[in-house]
Amino acid sequence: MKIRYYADAEIREMHNHAIRLLAQLHDDHDITVEIDRIDEQHDPIPDFPGEVRRLTPEEVYERDLKRNRSLNAVIEQTPSEAFKRYGTLDIAGNVAVIDEEGTVQWASTLPGYADGYGPGAEAQTAMDFLEDITTSPSNRICVECLGLLDGDENFCPNCGNDLS
Ligand SMILES: [Zn+2]
Repeated sequence: MKIRYYADAEIREMHNHAIRLLAQLHDDHDITVEIDRIDEQHDPIPDFPGEVRRLTPEEVYERDLKRNRSLNAVIEQTPSEAFKRYGTLDIAGNVAVIDEEGTVQWASTLPGYADGYGPGAEAQTAMDFLEDITTSPSNRICVECLGLLDGDENFCPNCGNDLS
């Protein structure tokens, strides 16, 4: 399992913050992190502790998001509603959890700056997700195996990690 950041978030500070949190997840929990730069707007990313690739939004959408049933089951909107609003791909700034087979199991659907969009918005933003899992114990994901959690477990149902 790994965490993938679709970069760059439009706002530089959000983008830099996401990179810092990903590096911290790698250092603290040995989580594999990577960046797909699909909309390069900011500086080069030196010293990132994971792979940094250049891709197009179309490549990412086709590979990760389009008709992804696992993702469809855990986000409120369909992937096309969330990432292809009005026919235009809008993916940069989001993060995804990728399983061993390379399938996206969860992705944020609201970019980090979307604070204040209403109740429940924090559950859908990239930044809240990254901040939550860097401040373990997280109730959203197990930092040992990156298994998704409902939030009320005492032990990870996937690997048995103590979440209390
Ligand atoms: Zn686990």
